Order: sequence, then C-alpha cells, then structure tokens
Amino acid sequence: MLQHDTIAAISTPAGSGGIGIIRISGADALPILKKLFRTSKAVEEISSHTITYGHIVYDGRTLDEVLVSVMRAPNTYTREDVVEINCHGGLLPVSQVLRAVLECGARQADPGEFTKRAFLNGRIGLSQAEAVIDIINANNTTALNIAQSQLRGTLSRELETASDKLIELLARIEVSIDYPEHDEAIVNIQTVSAEASHLISKLSKLAGSYEAGRNMREGIRTLILGRPNVGKSSLLNYLLQDDRAIVTDIPGTTRDLLSESVNIGGVPLVLTDTAGYRQTDDIVERIGVERGLEQLTAAQLVLLVLDGSTELSPEDKEILAQSQGKRLLVIINKTDLAQKLDLLNLNIILPELAADDIIPMSLKTGDCADKLETRIAEIFNLGELSADNGVIITNMRHEQALKTAISALKSAVISCESSMPEDIIAIELMAAASAIGEITGKTISEDMVDRIFSEFCLGK
Ligand code: GDP
Repeated sequence: MLQHDTIAAISTPAGSGGIGIIRISGADALPILKKLFRTSKAVEEISSHTITYGHIVYDGRTLDEVLVSVMRAPNTYTREDVVEINCHGGLLPVSQVLRAVLECGARQADPGEFTKRAFLNGRIGLSQAEAVIDIINANNTTALNIAQSQLRGTLSRELETASDKLIELLARIEVSIDYPEHDEAIVNIQTVSAEASHLISKLSKLAGSYEAGRNMREGIRTLILGRPNVGKSSLLNYLLQDDRAIVTDIPGTTRDLLSESVNIGGVPLVLTDTAGYRQTDDIVERIGVERGLEQLTAAQLVLLVLDGSTELSPEDKEILAQSQGKRLLVIINKTDLAQKLDLLNLNIILPELAADDIIPMSLKTGDCADKLETRIAEIFNLGELSADNGVIITNMRHEQALKTAISALKSAVISCESSMPEDIIAIELMAAASAIGEITGKTISEDMVDRIFSEFCLGK
C-alpha cells in the first residue's frame, strides 16, 4: 500500500492569506529543496526541525522570499523527510513554488496522503488518522474535544486492550487444539465464555456511545418553529447571544432560514429559525414556511414558540399538531405581559407533553430563559458524557465494526455454552479481532484505506 515517491501539495486554504505553505514529504524532499532554495548555507547543513530564511529560485527566476522548515525522518508527521516552504500567502506565489517543486521530481499528493503515510508508516493508528479530519471539520468545541482525545489514542488504546485479550484467548485455544494430550493446555471454556461476555459489555458500551457521539460531532438538528411575532428571532438571538437575526414587530419578517451552531449547556445544537409560519399569499414567505416544514422531518429537537400574552390561535394549533411525535420543547414567551394562553388547551392538543417540556419565559427580560438550557442539557445528557473521561465514538464506520465484533463474540459465547468444538470458537473470536482491527487499521483493506483518506482535504 505504501508508495515511496515524494509527494507535495499546498497545505493552506486556497486564496489570499498571510502565508501559504507547500508541504513536501519523501526521500527526495531535501534533494528537491536543494535544487530550489537559495540561502546562506547548504541544505545538507540545515539542522532538523529548524526554520531557515531564503529564496526559491527556479529557472533563473526568484519565485518568492520564503521561510523553510526542514524536518528529517523519522520524527515527522509522515515519518519521512518533510519540508515545508512558507511563502507569501497569495495564490500565485504558492502555486508557482508548488509547480517548481513538482517539476523538480515530486508528485502532487492525493487528498489526505500525508496523513495516510503517517498511518502506513506506523506513526498513528487508523482511528487516530480519522480523528485528524474530525479536528479539521469540528464545528463545536465538544466535537473538537472528542476528536482531540481520539487523536491522542484513547479509542485505539481501548480497542488494543480488547484485541490483546482476544489474541490471548485465541492463543490458549490454539494450544489446547494442538496439544490436547497436555492437561495444562486444556482451555477452560467457561473462562473463555466469561472473558468474551466481559468484552461484549465493554464493546457494547463503546458502540452505545455512538448516538451521543454523533450528536456531539454533528450537533443536534434543532428547529425553532412558531407563528410570526411570537419571538422566534428573539430566541435565536438569545441562544446565539448576538443579533444576527433581525427582530421586528412586522409579522413575517424572518423570511429565510438561518442555521447556526451553538453550544447550550454543553450540548451542540445546529439551530434553524424558520420563516414566520402562517397562511399567506406572499410567495417569498410561503417558500420560507415550506422550507421550514421540510426541516421538521429532519429535526431532532423542535423549539416551538408560543406567545403567552395571546390565546392559542388556529395557526398555533396547527403548528402544535404538525410537531406531534417530535422531541418537542414548548416555549411560552412574553411572560412579562398579562398571560392569556390557556395551558389546558395546550394539554388537549398535546396530552403526552411533559410538564418539564413546557417552559414559560420572557425573552425580553431574560426571565427563566436559563430553564430552557437546563432542560436541553437534561434531555441529551451530553454535558455529563463529555465531562466524563469515557471513550466516545463518533464515526459510523466504527459503530458498524463494533457491532460486527459484538455479534461474533455473542456467537462465541453461545458456542462455548453449547460445547461446540474449540476451533469453531476460535473462528468466532478471530472474526471479532478482525472487526476491531478494521477500526485500528490492523486488518483493513486497501480500498477502505483509500476511501477513508479520500475524504481528507488536499495537503493534509
Ligand atoms: P418572530 O417573528 O417570531 O421571529 O418574533 P420576534 O423575535 O421578531 O419578536 C416579535 C416582537 O415581539 C418583537 O417586537 C420583540 O421585541 C417582541 N418580543 C419578543 N420576546 C418578547 C417577550 O418576552 N416579551 C415582550 N413583551 N415582547 C417580546
């Protein structure tokens, strides 16, 4: 799987910026640098992990004034010789320098190829390599913390412990199969069964963390619904703590959908505010309303806003009816005004709505608004999960592999209990070990590796 040629790519985002970095990795990284770099000393004399000032000169032309980091193998990102050329951050200097590097013998790197080399050269496990992309893509601090913990190897260590246990059990079974005449070699099937059951419960806990992990990684898709003027934009602003949505007195002003990521009580929410929901002939508004209702299917949480200073309108009732079956929090806003909304009517429409899920508040005075945050944290219980040091998985590929391992282990336990031959038990334990190896990267196919790294960005 490992290619030994020298690769290069622009590692900074396309566009103008303070600096642009071209990264080169492979055995020819330093010889290529030697062809291009004009500085006060020879490239061979540059110490590893230092930065040197100079110019990139190619074909008699000075392409840019640069700072070059030289990092010699093996203590580098890829475990190969790595050179990073810091250019002025314009598209032209960076691409001209990259072209010169390619013309001097490097190959344009594929997306994620530097990290793929770090994995193939044994510096990091596959789940750690996957954490790199999660760090880059993290859109909330909780997701970032989980990805950083995965990069530090918490998940791979947990899986390696399980894998070591399986290998030990397999070794004991093999001895027992190979030397049946030796009493001491006879494996105690009850012990195998107990150890396998113990592994099942550990791996199930890990697999069970996926939903919460995915919610943390992606954020909980949350929809703010309500008829015009009840305070949806005010709620969005309160949750965002800024004034990005325009708050007005004219019904239907919030015409389009706004999506924002926000962290509420440790729970990452991706908030969508809908256009004022009401029967209307105004085409723009209707499109907004329809788009809002389309979001209802995908929403994991609905924050339904009512105006406590008015009675339930037919529109309110319809929105309530449409939201049935969703995870719903009903916010009764404007408690600073005289209250006209009859809670009894609300209970008739939504009899299953728990009292804790009805939150009276005033977004004008901020009164009781914190109750909403507390309730969201309670519902998703993520704050606690993230504070705790338990390992959390966020990747569906990991969840699937864990389920395969658990199912193989369950078969092994059944085989133990029904006194099946030891080689059958060994095959099942091996299947479990192989599924775990798909996460750590020990037993993964080349296609799968290519697929995982193709999701990375260029230059990483
Ligand atoms: P939207 O159309 O549902 O997005 O509602 P807005 O957030 O734009 O609010 C409509 C109007 O109600 C604005 O004038 C707000 O200032 C006002 N408003 C929002 N929340 C409260 C509240 O708790 N009390 C009072 N008195 N007015 C509020």
